[in-house]
Amino acid sequence: MGKNTDVVEKLLNGNRMYLERADGDEIKRRVKNAEEGQHPYAIVVTCSDSRVIPEKIFSADLGDLFVIRVAGNVLGEHEAGSVEYAAEHLHVKQAVILGHTQCGAVGAALEGDGEGFVRTITDEIKKAIGDETDYDAAVRRNVCYGVKVLSGILSKNPETEDVNICGAVYDVKSGLVTIIDRD
Ligand SMILES: [Zn+2]
Repeated sequence: MGKNTDVVEKLLNGNRMYLERADGDEIKRRVKNAEEGQHPYAIVVTCSDSRVIPEKIFSADLGDLFVIRVAGNVLGEHEAGSVEYAAEHLHVKQAVILGHTQCGAVGAALEGDGEGFVRTITDEIKKAIGDETDYDAAVRRNVCYGVKVLSGILSKNPETEDVNICGAVYDVKSGLVTIIDRD
């Protein structure tokens, strides 16, 4: 209990620091987004891995990216629904499936079946990677599969058929993003 309280305190301290450090531009942006609504320029589907922070690695800001994060950047129903929402109602025209090196979810799928709800993720990744055994290649295959799945979903709807989708991999050590698949 004590330790958890410390972590919550750390989070709240972090928020206090964020508020203290926010300059005029930041405050203006936040208020504008709140009053006029969000107009993100890209949808990013990526992994929950703590090393992968889309806003940070793309130098993006509040209101810039519509981000869906789920372990292994898999596209289940909730994720697909989130993308559809951004494409249809926020009119975002570019989506990126962003995988990353050292992805634990892909590693778990390479090693076997996850347990509990994790299995719903490893099952999906196994469909994506097939018989691939190389870690980096499996990460890339998982991204390309995501592009294919999302493309299949968005192309069926006249309101989302013109959304561009690309696949990319983020290197958690070098910080470099490489596009590997573009439709
Ligand atoms: Zn991952």
